[in-house]
Amino acid sequence: MNIDEKLQPILAAVLSRNAGEPEFHQAVREVLESLGRVVAKHPDYADDALIERICEPERQIIFRVPWVDDRGRVQINRGFRVQFNSALGPYKGGIRFHPSVNLGIIKFLGFEQTFKNALTGMPIGGGKGGSDFNPRGRSDGEIMRFCQSFMTELHRHVGEHTDVPAGDIGVGGREVGYMFGQYKRLTNRYEAGVLTGKGLTYGGSQARREATGYGAVYFVESMLATRKQKIDGRRAAVSGSGNVAIYTIEKLQQLGARIVACSDSNGYIYDERGIDLGLLKEVKEVRRARISDYAELKGGPVRYIEGGSIWDVPCEIAMPSATQNELTGKDAMTLVKNGVVAVGEGANMPCTPEAVRAFQAAGVLYAPGKAANAGGVATSALEMQQNASRDSWTFEQTEARLAAIMRGIHDRCAQTAESYGAPGDYVLGANIAGFVRVAESMRALGVI
Ligand code: NAP
Repeated sequence: MNIDEKLQPILAAVLSRNAGEPEFHQAVREVLESLGRVVAKHPDYADDALIERICEPERQIIFRVPWVDDRGRVQINRGFRVQFNSALGPYKGGIRFHPSVNLGIIKFLGFEQTFKNALTGMPIGGGKGGSDFNPRGRSDGEIMRFCQSFMTELHRHVGEHTDVPAGDIGVGGREVGYMFGQYKRLTNRYEAGVLTGKGLTYGGSQARREATGYGAVYFVESMLATRKQKIDGRRAAVSGSGNVAIYTIEKLQQLGARIVACSDSNGYIYDERGIDLGLLKEVKEVRRARISDYAELKGGPVRYIEGGSIWDVPCEIAMPSATQNELTGKDAMTLVKNGVVAVGEGANMPCTPEAVRAFQAAGVLYAPGKAANAGGVATSALEMQQNASRDSWTFEQTEARLAAIMRGIHDRCAQTAESYGAPGDYVLGANIAGFVRVAESMRALGVI
């Protein structure tokens, strides 16, 4: 899709003032491509530099994170928090620990998060944070010291009414616990609502761990229902083997799918009989080991393929749940050739623009991450609600809320796409529905 003439100068300005940030450029370009139809219908949305303001983070914080490793050596990492947009509520978005993290990646994630959070219909703004710290191979003590040092600076910028981080790649329950502990110590406040994704014993929510994966599957289920199709009996492939991938696999299995492949950054496993979820959880969540260890422990016909692309495995449902730009145009063509019917993004921006075009051209049901993986942040908002009311809900109650929220997001995207003359285009629907809610609120709050 091309960018409307009125919006081209906005993209040009974003590219020049955010040089060397290709992921951020990609995320902005994709949203601006959708907004042409909005400004054609409602030219006033282009007034008062509203779109320019949406593309500019409210605040970007970069800080030094010194810590001491197990051999007594001082290590230095860089920490980030980008507070992108607070028109709808406190900034909300995860923290990522991965060596690839830089300012551009955190900005792309914070930008996407703003629209995603708007789509949930809940009162949360958009933000994202992280560090180039590599947790792989680090001891528990090192992880704790790193998290404590990271929070020693971050605590000045967050709070239940200001900015509420959660987990993301490399940050799960253990890391959230260490960060929450340090926040509590520094502030001398039991402010449970400052972080989400907490453990169940100290203010976490039931179903938060499962929420992103489960939610993505609910979204795919809703898309299939528009064509009177079901998940039951279908072959699926899920990339990654972290939090999102594991609970995507779990819900797909509950709904009757057979998941024949999953991966990590070194390779993928392929098992025609279907992934053994109990063993996968043992390997990844308990032992914190590699997917190759799963293959070794499982034995039999399971194959571990070092390198290569998981998307070579024929499947009808593909759920990329690892990282950005992991599914290329070539992968998409292979999936289409092999008969894929639905693609749901558990990860943020895992499909390249070429891949998205290939799916849409082939009539494949395609759900962008900002809609499909919004169940995680939506359940984080439910965690904040429980913390604020000093309550805790059952798993069933929380999952029922999650399922209803995901159906709501699906319907909002579908109806918006239809009303803008592009039925079935979930990219357009998500971008426009998210944008309109943020833009209306920003307008109401004046030029701030
Ligand atoms: P995670 O638990 O750390 O798992 C990440 C998985 O992706 C791991 O299997 C990892 O393999 C793989 N991976 C990471 N970087 C990779 C790379 N460069 N190439 C190939 N594989 C890579 O993280 P997660 O929470 O599941 O997050 C996965 C995706 O979902 C991310 O895009 C995240 O932003 C998005 N997301 C997460 C949530 C949430 O609630 N957690 C919510 C919304 C969206 P290795 O172990 O080999 O690194």
